[in-house]
Amino acid sequence: MGLNAQDAVIQEVIEAMHIDSMIRFVQEMSGEVAVDLGDGPVVINSRHSDHAGNALAQLYFERKLASFGHVTETRSFNATGRNVLATKTGSVHPDEIVVLCAHYDAMPPGGLYDAPAADDDGSGCAALLEAARVLRDIPFERTIIFALWDQEEQGKIGSIHYANGMAADDADIVAVVNMDAIAYDGNGDRKARVHARPVANSLAIADTVFAVLDRYAFDLDLMLTNPGAVYSDHASFWSAGYGAVLMIEEFNNDGNPNYHTPNDRVQYFDVPYYEQLAKLSVASMATLAVPFDPTTSAHGRLGAALVNNLLVYPNPTAGRSRFRLHVDQPAHYRSALLNALGQEVDVLLDAELPSGDQLIEMDLTRMAAGAYTVQVIGPDGDLRAIRVLRIP
Ligand SMILES: [Zn+2]
Repeated sequence: MGLNAQDAVIQEVIEAMHIDSMIRFVQEMSGEVAVDLGDGPVVINSRHSDHAGNALAQLYFERKLASFGHVTETRSFNATGRNVLATKTGSVHPDEIVVLCAHYDAMPPGGLYDAPAADDDGSGCAALLEAARVLRDIPFERTIIFALWDQEEQGKIGSIHYANGMAADDADIVAVVNMDAIAYDGNGDRKARVHARPVANSLAIADTVFAVLDRYAFDLDLMLTNPGAVYSDHASFWSAGYGAVLMIEEFNNDGNPNYHTPNDRVQYFDVPYYEQLAKLSVASMATLAVPFDPTTSAHGRLGAALVNNLLVYPNPTAGRSRFRLHVDQPAHYRSALLNALGQEVDVLLDAELPSGDQLIEMDLTRMAAGAYTVQVIGPDGDLRAIRVLRIP
């Protein structure tokens, strides 16, 4: 399929993210070079929660995000813990939120050693900064929140506080992309993982990551881990009922030997690998945020529109649920519910639809508990699918 206008925006994002820029950010936050935060040059030797460098890092991220033109906000959640946030409001659906995140705190413990934490998670933080720099002037339909967590290493304290607070406010977070350790590939096999679980739309978010991997030329061997690990901040969103994925280097069989040591330094990065995994993560998030382009033709936009605008809620469900389908131009659509064997168990829709957002009700009350797929076929046979979980 040819590149449509939305794809062109994503392609532009991929090309605009510069590896030199990301490496510079990692050098600054991991003590390789000094930074000036307003009082002359300082070196951030450690970002550990108990180390003075943690507060320097927090200031560093505030200054960087502000320098890219974002309004930043720092939220305290305990005596020393602070999350740094920047919000880019959506042009069409400002209430629908896509979160791009990484944790800025570090191991090993402060005072005793340096904690450069270049890979874990300077790599994710630098990719986030580069995304914030590149995306500043690109309009998206949905709101993007750039979030840098503190105290991940003490038990995801910062992200738990944030995710629970958003759930308590009934915030409509439609996707979370967490980047944690994305720069190490010891054996050069280009393997990386996306971690997801059947929680809310997490598996559909992973599907979008694989769709982005296929559509643009990434030199990565990506694997799905399902059920995904709960050792990083995306799991705080799962616990709060939101869809989220973790993007991470292949840690199971090719772990970074410098993990949580004073040797977790940028010199051990596989730089081309880091560039690829950072760009895949950000391009996936940007696809989920939906580039805003009112001039695009309906046909050109269809694939992305279906990928991005198929949203099932509530999901998981104990019975009644619904999905939302965005249609750019009137066309015939057919949608079916498939069971885990791929057999059609219900026809949800078979009709001409007007343009706009369509809400389609479905009733899984009589269905057995388990995983189902909502499949939608649009004009020209374009097919998209999203998973829905029927719980007892
Ligand atoms: Zn980490």
